[in-house]
Amino acid sequence: MLNIVLFGPPGAGKGTQAERIKDHYSLVHLSTGDIFRFNMKKSTKLGLLAKSYIDKGELVPDEVTIKMLESEVIKYPESNGFIFDGFPRTTLQAKNLDEFLKSKNTAITKMIALDVPNNELIERLLLRGKDSGRADDQNKEVIANRIKVYEDQTAILADYYRLQNKLVSVDGIGTVDEITHRLYSAIDN
Ligand code: ADP
Repeated sequence: MLNIVLFGPPGAGKGTQAERIKDHYSLVHLSTGDIFRFNMKKSTKLGLLAKSYIDKGELVPDEVTIKMLESEVIKYPESNGFIFDGFPRTTLQAKNLDEFLKSKNTAITKMIALDVPNNELIERLLLRGKDSGRADDQNKEVIANRIKVYEDQTAILADYYRLQNKLVSVDGIGTVDEITHRLYSAIDN
């Protein structure tokens, strides 16, 4: 199995690139943000809970997020592998993912980090907010909080995967196609 964690701050381009990687390698794309938004649209119990955090730019609690992710993974027992987008975001999530995949006799193959500087992130998110209507992309304070949460709780995961020799960094500045090709080489090498 090929299991990729696509990593990077909000606005790094994870969702766009994950869709391409999914098609190229025939993987299942699991975006925790997309799953939360789907549930928010349907006003499920999970959606209402997630909304109370997402609207503030906070993380949804680990317990809820981990349970949801695991229930998604087991829907695809025949898959070639997964591209995880937006998960893990905390050390506890990363440890749980390792244990969970181990119980399925598989593991994370690589973590690919998309590097994009903060000033570029804020511009991209505000632009996306205009097109997508995502409320969390339209408010500068919420964006700033998401970047802070990333720096405080998520960025450290690069070290977690570096210690396992699984971290590869990719320059996230350039055209969408250029970045896709950098990602393919990072996966293939
Ligand atoms: P972005 O990468 O632009 O922040 P996402 O779609 O990945 O967008 O996530 C949107 C929001 O969903 C996050 O700000 C957070 O509140 C919540 N979320 C997504 N993934 C997780 C996760 N793994 N753990 C906790 N909260 C999450």
